[in-house]
Parts: sequence; structure tokens; C-alpha cells
Amino acid sequence: MSYRPVVTNVKLAERNDSTQLYQVVVKLKDGGECRLFYSPEGTKINRLQTTPCPVCRRDYYCNCMDKFIEEISGQVDLEELKAAEPAAK
Ligand SMILES: [Zn+2]
Repeated sequence: MSYRPVVTNVKLAERNDSTQLYQVVVKLKDGGECRLFYSPEGTKINRLQTTPCPVCRRDYYCNCMDKFIEEISGQVDLEELKAAEPAAK
């Protein structure tokens, strides 16, 4: 497994403080984009189909990013993102 995702940009896309659900759009150095889904049950990841998968090169749905969820989410500071944007009323 030689692929090493490098997060270059993160954006808080969805926020719901009452249900503790958050979505963060992550841009990767290789041009890929993912969406991280945070919930009290855990974190999930989806690759956005804007570019082919950097791992398997498919341009449709695949599960490759699941293997890198910890590496990617480890580069995202959700608390910092929440602090940077005013809470939705
Ligand atoms: Zn893939």
C-alpha cells in the first residue's frame, strides 16, 4: 500500500450540533476529493467522483478510501473547523 494521502484543504460542509453530525470536504494533494462524515457512531468517508480514484484509478464508486480513513481524518481537525465557523442557529 504505497498510497499516502496528503490533505491540502478542508472545509466544513455540513454541521448539525444537535445531532453531532458533521461533514467535511477534504481536498487531497493528488487532486482527489473526499467527504468525511462524522457522527457519534464513528467516521465514514466517501470519495467524491470528481477525479479517478488515486488508488484503483476507477472513476466510479469504490471503497479504496476506507483503508485510508484514519490517515485522512488524522489530518483533519474537526474541532478547529467547528471553532472557525459560527454555530448554526
Ligand atoms: Zn478506488
